[in-house]
Amino acid sequence: MRRGTAIIIAALVPLLGLGACATAPITAAGPVGSGSGGAPAAPPSAPSQQPTATVAPSSPTAPTPTPAASSAPPTDPSQPGAPAPSPTTPIASPDYTAAPAPEAKPSAPADAHSRTASPTPTKQPDEAPSGDGAPASLHLDPNGPDCSEVKCVALTFDDGPGAHTARLLDMLKQRHAKATFFVVGPNVKANPALVKRAVAEGHQIGNHSWSHPSLTKLSPGAIRKEVRSTSAAVKQATGRGTESIRPPYGAVDKKVRRVLAGEPNAHVILWSVDTLDWKHHDPAKTLAAVKQGVQPGGIILMHDIHKTSVDAVPAVVDYLQSKGYTLVTVDQLLAPEHPRSGKAYSHLG
Ligand SMILES: [Zn+2]
Repeated sequence: MRRGTAIIIAALVPLLGLGACATAPITAAGPVGSGSGGAPAAPPSAPSQQPTATVAPSSPTAPTPTPAASSAPPTDPSQPGAPAPSPTTPIASPDYTAAPAPEAKPSAPADAHSRTASPTPTKQPDEAPSGDGAPASLHLDPNGPDCSEVKCVALTFDDGPGAHTARLLDMLKQRHAKATFFVVGPNVKANPALVKRAVAEGHQIGNHSWSHPSLTKLSPGAIRKEVRSTSAAVKQATGRGTESIRPPYGAVDKKVRRVLAGEPNAHVILWSVDTLDWKHHDPAKTLAAVKQGVQPGGIILMHDIHKTSVDAVPAVVDYLQSKGYTLVTVDQLLAPEHPRSGKAYSHLG
């Protein structure tokens, strides 16, 4: 009796590039959104070079990606070398700058995402074969909510942890709300205590790669490296590796799913509500997006590296709870579906 099957958003094609998390952070301090009239797809100063690979994959240990120190908006994402390794201070910088992966945002309209992902998630035909990876070993609280019975929704935060994550954890704790953090390796290395605290307080840590590239552009080996290095960093901080994966930009294809199917706890988590928080930096708009798009079993996308995103959390959580939602981690949300590595989910049922 679960309510339906998880939706495999297969055709993420349209999702590519969309605003997802990808956006903001990666594109360097100068969020995609700023200059490109809305379409994160077209980075203002189109980085034609391929900085992607340069950053992290190769040196997991050295957090290459530089947190764009400051909230400097118009930074040129173009310079591949820009990300100067300053692993020590990422927390101070709201904008995590990693490999700009410009290729990833080009195609779709920013909002294509939300539309695509939420309303009519359908099962992807071509997914079948690639979605049968190992079942995730979910770390669930036996006394936790049963999302096949109660109205659940999952808040997810990408690109951190960062300077606002501690405040976010305080907010969640106060409201007895659980969330999932899709972290990038360098920020984990810089803020291991925050990751440890999140786990201790019942939140889930997901994998958002090391250098935030579009995984579809990488070789299988490079994809594994991105995923494994970040999972290792999380394991070092918390004692266990990452549980689920959110590919930067929501970019996945058959190759990526196939590779992830061979990794542990690598079910792909997309989203059904894209708040575009990274783009508008307006708490009111973030709340409005949630109100408009939330449905039982939904997954909401936000970014805890932005102050304005965290500022929106109290209202968002209060609203959801007032509507009867129980805020859970993505594994709690998908438990009825028994998620499997390599398979993509944008919501339950
Ligand atoms: Zn991201």
